[in-house]
Amino acid sequence: MKTLHHAINGRSVAGTSDRFGPVFDPATGEQTARVPLASPEETAAAVAAAHAAFPAWAATPPLRRARLLFKFKELVERHADELARLITGEHGKILSDAMGSLTRGLEVVEFACGIPHLLKGEYTDNVGTGVDAWSMRLPLGVCVGITPFNFPAMVPMWMFPVALACGNTFVLKPSEKDPSASLRLAELLSEAGLPPGVFNVVNGDRIAVDALLSDTRVMAVSFVGSTPIAEHVYRTAAAFGKRVQALGGAKNHMVVMPDADMDQATDALMGAAYGSAGERCMAVSVAVAVGRAGDVLVGKLAPRVRALKVGPGTAPDSEMGPLVTAEHLAKVRGYIDQGVAEGADLVVDGRNLKLQGYENGYYLGGTLFDRVAPAMRVYKEEIFGPVLSIVRVREFADALHLVNTHEYGNGAAIFTRDGDAAREFQMQAQAGMIGVNVPIPVPMAFHSFGGWKRSLFGDHHMHGPEGVRFYTKMKAVTGRWPAGIRAGAEFVMPTMR
Ligand code: NAD
Repeated sequence: MKTLHHAINGRSVAGTSDRFGPVFDPATGEQTARVPLASPEETAAAVAAAHAAFPAWAATPPLRRARLLFKFKELVERHADELARLITGEHGKILSDAMGSLTRGLEVVEFACGIPHLLKGEYTDNVGTGVDAWSMRLPLGVCVGITPFNFPAMVPMWMFPVALACGNTFVLKPSEKDPSASLRLAELLSEAGLPPGVFNVVNGDRIAVDALLSDTRVMAVSFVGSTPIAEHVYRTAAAFGKRVQALGGAKNHMVVMPDADMDQATDALMGAAYGSAGERCMAVSVAVAVGRAGDVLVGKLAPRVRALKVGPGTAPDSEMGPLVTAEHLAKVRGYIDQGVAEGADLVVDGRNLKLQGYENGYYLGGTLFDRVAPAMRVYKEEIFGPVLSIVRVREFADALHLVNTHEYGNGAAIFTRDGDAAREFQMQAQAGMIGVNVPIPVPMAFHSFGGWKRSLFGDHHMHGPEGVRFYTKMKAVTGRWPAGIRAGAEFVMPTMR
């Protein structure tokens, strides 16, 4: 069994506290590593390294910073198989999906390589006679990323490429459930030539997080995870005067209108509900079937869900891997028990799945509930597993009402052939990311990612232009070089003449 470490100041640093967390291979249930859980002192050492590295990195020309990220991109591409295996080995998702998530992360690196263009600032000559004005986007200082288990490479890559390209230094606190991909990314950044201290990984749990939130040297915090922790991070970091973006949980609805192409909608739901075993913040966990769409959808979905190929993420024919931990498996199973107790129709029950040779893995079969009601906990709460709930409604307005009154507002999709319904949905749905005949509308890297309502706390979405705004502060300069500037003091409020 491996003992993992931190990555501080360009070096591997062993944990010095006696606290460690277990890392499992979800496919077998075997513990493969132990990860150090940093003390406040170890966490402070990572912040100190980032703080010391900041002045030189901020003064490095943006183009040189971007070129270094370009080298990093090449290294990630070269090591993509290895990284995907690290992700699958600790998260459980199938390899092709791990590779897809890495590609989405790389797209942010590609975006970041062009960031010098977005740091140009603005210039106005002659705002007054002989007076020019310009504004600049400057880095903030030490930025922190706190990330969830479900995208161990992609979510950190939503954050640090943009932060670094803007001239900030970074401390990443990855999920303690699958930290190895982050540690490998730190090595690749060093190999690309990143100076020591510019990017650091501190492993840990809430103790490390709370130390980061209260450290006065930390200027900004990017968080992705569950809503209660997102809210805690938002409130605490803001109370310490930091900039915060905290992305939380989700319950994404896909509205299926009766005129939709039902085969296309079924395919979309299969991938969006059961891909990555439903452990995606953009997974579709509720299908809202309008009118006669309900019977058709259930008829088409049930045999497909029963036939899902569940197995280890490394097996080429697996369509869905295990859940991340035994506790998470127990939690998701508990929700299925709850749905039955609340009176939802359990059309496909994934609870009895057993895989020969993998009896200790954290597997759950695809599960389908029909006739779920808005008052049920399985409707209201985020399950984060391979469980799809179908809610039947009479008309479009009822479907829109469900989307808009739900606590979460990450993504929402509509499947229809009716352009008018689609446009109305796009305009009225209270969610940050909308799909029209696209089930998982994750924006590309040059747009920005983020939800509404209790799916995001803060003002900025992540990566893309919003990421640049989040990781920079403005400075406006007004200057003049007239002869006689030393002529004397002016005591009136300056106005331009
Ligand atoms: P989590 O909230 O349990 O953990 C996220 C991070 O917070 C981890 O680094 C963890 O160590 C830390 N943490 C956990 N408990 C803490 C505490 N009490 N105090 C301080 N820090 C704490 O989330 P998770 O289970 O790793 O990830 C799944 C969740 O993330 C789901 O709710 C999912 O919807 C959400 N998610 C959201 C998005 C999005 O973009 N909105 C993307 C991915 C995942």
